[in-house]
Amino acid sequence: MPEEPSFDRVEVPAGSRITYEDGELDVPEDPIIPVIYGDGIGKDVAPAMRKVLDEAAQATGREINWMRLYAGESAREAYDENLPQETVDAIRHFRVAIKGPLTTPVGAGFRSLNVALRKKLDLYANVRPTYHLEGIPSPMKNPEQMDMITFRENTEDVYAGIEWEAGSDEVDEVKRFLVEEMDVGDSIHDGPVGIGVKPITEFGTKRLVRQAIDYALENDRDTVTLVHKGNIMKFTEGAFRDWGYEVANEEYGDEVITEDTLWEERDGELPEDAVVVNDRIADNMLQQLLTRTDQYDVLAMPNLNGDYLSDSAGGQIGGLGIAPGANLGDGRVLAEPVHGSAPKYEGQDKVNPSALMLSGVLMLEQIGWDDAAKLVRDAVEAQISSGRVTYDIHRNIEGGTKLATSEFADEVAKRIS
Ligand code: NAP
Repeated sequence: MPEEPSFDRVEVPAGSRITYEDGELDVPEDPIIPVIYGDGIGKDVAPAMRKVLDEAAQATGREINWMRLYAGESAREAYDENLPQETVDAIRHFRVAIKGPLTTPVGAGFRSLNVALRKKLDLYANVRPTYHLEGIPSPMKNPEQMDMITFRENTEDVYAGIEWEAGSDEVDEVKRFLVEEMDVGDSIHDGPVGIGVKPITEFGTKRLVRQAIDYALENDRDTVTLVHKGNIMKFTEGAFRDWGYEVANEEYGDEVITEDTLWEERDGELPEDAVVVNDRIADNMLQQLLTRTDQYDVLAMPNLNGDYLSDSAGGQIGGLGIAPGANLGDGRVLAEPVHGSAPKYEGQDKVNPSALMLSGVLMLEQIGWDDAAKLVRDAVEAQISSGRVTYDIHRNIEGGTKLATSEFADEVAKRIS
């Protein structure tokens, strides 16, 4: 792609570009940040998020120059397509962006635009911080014990889309190969069969685990846990664990220590500020999150484990309504909330913008604006604890005052200023 791509239907605002050199983002004080409002409630929550992030940038002597991009329904109106090339080019060029939810029709229609964006931009890590905000109702006795971040591999595993439908010529061919050439016929019952393939590569695993360890080092976290089912799936999930440990052992020197080394060679003596890398089997991990919540910090895992575990952890701190997320690649960030476009609430100025605001927090942390990120997180938390909240939280607490999306955003912004 050229240094300065040209954009036909979107305006590039004044401001400077975030660049990436030697593995680091170089962030000016007046960055251009692309934003996709998204479908459904995206149009309600995106302006609310902008208002609050603008306030935090201003309070820390900076300025965000938003570049509005289009995908989904708004793109169909402007471009007559769902995911215009300009949108992808702009995120690629400006590197750090944030988006609201995009609707994916069930069954027929187009495939997920979210998946397409992640693929086109090679955003290989799906990252979800899971921490409790005071005032959010939770099914746990001590929800504040959870303060974790999950790194889910985003491009491979059984999600790679390599699968064949029962009754198709392709599945017959794959079955023939497995039975006749690989001699595994005993493991496949007779009759119709669907077959899928689970690729886990050294390349895909190592770059994901690197992201998780780098995050732990940069954010003073104590442990990185590799979550796998390697006891059963030895050559895929087991390989994930082994390659993960290889990264820890070979690439970080004394900054990173594996749990085995810590006990076998160092008698439990941990160098100051070092990160410990350990591993847990996925089913055990799910119960440990309930029983030993406070022992976990940064988790790294293959795609399917990450899908289940991050939603389950989200439930522990009060549901997905406020859950933030981001997709990370090398020198690239696309922040987005976990929730979808909830079309029935579109345009009603009703839903909770906290998930997108907290996705903004994650984005600000990724560009090194930790002070601005903390202002937003603290203000959202203070607002929620005050009981002046949107309908979703209001219906689950005693008393409190129900606010519209825009009123909630105004009050959060006021707390920052
Ligand atoms: P959803 O949009 O997340 O909505 C499900 C329910 O969650 C809503 O009815 C509402 O519950 C609650 N909710 C979601 N966001 C909320 C918010 N900001 N504030 C308050 N409550 C909120 O899930 P869905 O209905 O399954 O999916 C709708 C569309 O979104 C689908 O096309 C799906 O493919 C898409 N989607 C996109 C993304 C993405 O862009 N990353 C992610 C997930 C889904 P109550 O009605 O009980 O209040």
